[in-house]
Amino acid sequence: MRVPGEILMVGTAFGVGGDFEDMVLDTATLRIAFGLMALVLVLLFYFSAYRITRSPYSGWWCLALLFFLTGSACFLLDGTVHQIWANPLGNVLLVHGGVAVWAGARSLRTVPPPKWAFTGIPLVTLVASVLDNPATNTWSGGPVFLAAMSVSIGLASRELWRLEPGYSRVRIPMAVSAGGLAVFYFFRWVAFLFEGQHGPTFTTVFGSAVTTLVTMVLLVVVSFSMAALSSEQQTRALRVVASRDDLTGLLNRKAFVDLAAELLSDRTITRGSGALILADLDHFKTVNDTYGHAAGDIALQRFAEACTDTVRSTDLVGRYGGEEFVLLIPGASAERAELIAEEISRRLASAPTVDGMEMPTASYGISTYDAGTAEVDSVIAAADAALYVAKSGGRNRTARSDRLL
Ligand code: GH3
Ligand code: MG
Ligand code: MG
Repeated sequence: MRVPGEILMVGTAFGVGGDFEDMVLDTATLRIAFGLMALVLVLLFYFSAYRITRSPYSGWWCLALLFFLTGSACFLLDGTVHQIWANPLGNVLLVHGGVAVWAGARSLRTVPPPKWAFTGIPLVTLVASVLDNPATNTWSGGPVFLAAMSVSIGLASRELWRLEPGYSRVRIPMAVSAGGLAVFYFFRWVAFLFEGQHGPTFTTVFGSAVTTLVTMVLLVVVSFSMAALSSEQQTRALRVVASRDDLTGLLNRKAFVDLAAELLSDRTITRGSGALILADLDHFKTVNDTYGHAAGDIALQRFAEACTDTVRSTDLVGRYGGEEFVLLIPGASAERAELIAEEISRRLASAPTVDGMEMPTASYGISTYDAGTAEVDSVIAAADAALYVAKSGGRNRTARSDRLL
């Protein structure tokens, strides 16, 4: 089956007649085309994705492409004296490629692949191939090789499906490609078991030429999706860095305002209404003057923690300015926001301090929005007016914009 120069009648293989009958595909030529394509993909992928992002999955994909490339190249020696070592080596390299695809898929969930997969699966393939007369049998270790490919690529597909739905949609073509290839190898394995390597179905529908063609198409699909995923994740990482405040890790002012505007425009998330809290630490200048700037920084961090610990992870918390913070709580009423403010102050008061520093208190201004509100700025301005009232009323308290005269 793997003898170079072996010819596949595509028309016959697919049961198509007419114009296709004369079309012939030579396995050796296809393998060379495959090798060239894999080489180009490795180079393109290495320079466009891996070198820039250094993401583990793009590294694994480069490695997988290299395994497929070298493994496939080994089979070009089938039918020569070198077949005795080249054939088992080719099997092992291709299986390594399958395992690398699995490892890459797992790295997307940041779960390392189990160690036994790397050594175990290829090792079993090697033993089976070496013991099965590789000098004369081009399909030495065939059933184990086919099963190992099906299992490793099938595991990769399962891994891709298991990524959370919020993950990029490009995981879908990757999961489908890997799943399709795993199923293809599974049926090759079944055909091999039932018919043997010379069986009619195994040599036509599941022959090496068809396999090479199928794999070529899927490698392109996966490489393209991977590259898209790479740049998408890089953009996302950059956006996270650009949107965070260094000291507290909260959203910075611009990111908060942008996200709040997005939330306000999406009424399915806001459920129509919600509350905004603007908080300002009291006499913070005195904290800095008394305990030092570093202690002041710690107080700011404790306040940020008190905020994030009090609200849901889906609520927005930002550092609005020096010692001013802002929270957007979709679905909350003014009363609920008052309770949240109280809870934040309670947490801040009981937060651990350093060098006997007394934690400052905070004042809060609360405003609400409803389905008719379009502008974030006006909601913030209303909260700011309420905050001013809380400050002038003696600090360490909450004021509501709907109660202002
Ligand atoms: P009020 O109760 O009226 O809000 O008084 P205040 O002292 O808190 O207000 P003021 O605006 O006079 O002072 C704010 C202080 O916050 C002054 C500034 O040095 C300090 N601050 C701003 N950003 C930081 C920061 O990142 N770290 C520290 N340690 N202090 C900061
Ligand atoms: Mg202030
Ligand atoms: Mg202040």
